[in-house]
Amino acid sequence: MQELKALCMSDRDANNKPTMQVMTNIIIEEKNGRYSAKGQCAKCGGNMFKFMSKVDAEKMK
Ligand SMILES: [Zn+2]
Repeated sequence: MQELKALCMSDRDANNKPTMQVMTNIIIEEKNGRYSAKGQCAKCGGNMFKFMSKVDAEKMK
């Protein structure tokens, strides 16, 4: 499985902006032809969510 990164709303940088973190326990979901990934932040364990293209979603399988 490929590594996936997403913005974590809990891990913020010095400018208080969400930072990109590695997503773990990834679940790919398809709804009405739209793909998304749900998982947890490898750093803080918080929930993460990311919209995926179909191509990217297929790669994660
Ligand atoms: Zn985090």
